Amino acid sequence: MKTAGSKKPLRTCVVCGRNDAKDHFVRFVRKDGVVVCDASGRAAGRGAYLCAEEACFELAAKKGRLGRSLKCPLSAEDYQRLGEAFSNICQDLRQAS
Ligand SMILES: [Zn+2]
Repeated sequence: MKTAGSKKPLRTCVVCGRNDAKDHFVRFVRKDGVVVCDASGRAAGRGAYLCAEEACFELAAKKGRLGRSLKCPLSAEDYQRLGEAFSNICQDLRQAS
């Protein structure tokens, strides 16, 4: 039975195009020209979503998808820094669920 008002906001992964509830994604946000992992999911700024899966992050890094989505060029060092934050958030998500 469907319950009114239980609809969750959906997000789309910029790498694989998967649609799912917001809490299955990690948000990245561009703030003052710097891209950071947005653990709260509520930071202001232009955002992009990735599945909370290492595979999607690796593809994003390989194909430069995050930089393109956020209109901010990212270097290999940037991806490395973001990858570490991303892994931490993935771990927290896994523990929470
Ligand atoms: Zn994905």
